[in-house]
Amino acid sequence: MSTPIDPAAVVAAFIDAVAPYDPRPEDAPVALIGVRTALGEGTFAVSDHVIRAMCKALAAYRDPEDRGSCVDCGSRHLDENLHCRECGRLHGILGEVIAQHARRVAAEDA
Ligand SMILES: [Zn+2]
Repeated sequence: MSTPIDPAAVVAAFIDAVAPYDPRPEDAPVALIGVRTALGEGTFAVSDHVIRAMCKALAAYRDPEDRGSCVDCGSRHLDENLHCRECGRLHGILGEVIAQHARRVAAEDA
């Protein structure tokens, strides 16, 4: 089990990391972000620059669990073997070989 992290501290760290590069630090904040958790709370006045940095961070983010979508059911929950946890479809090269074999067997039985 990983150590709990303080969400308010994470928001503060993000703002601290990007704020020095704000080209217009004199502009008024565009939003107040409030964070309240069992670990603490904080309210952060954020600039347009910080919001844009969040957008860029989101666009660059790739979850380590992201293995694409199931071609059959569209689920985004493929396990490390590219096996769909929702419908059971197996993806990847092995999955395709198995699917082709299943289609051949089905065609032979028809
Ligand atoms: Zn599926």
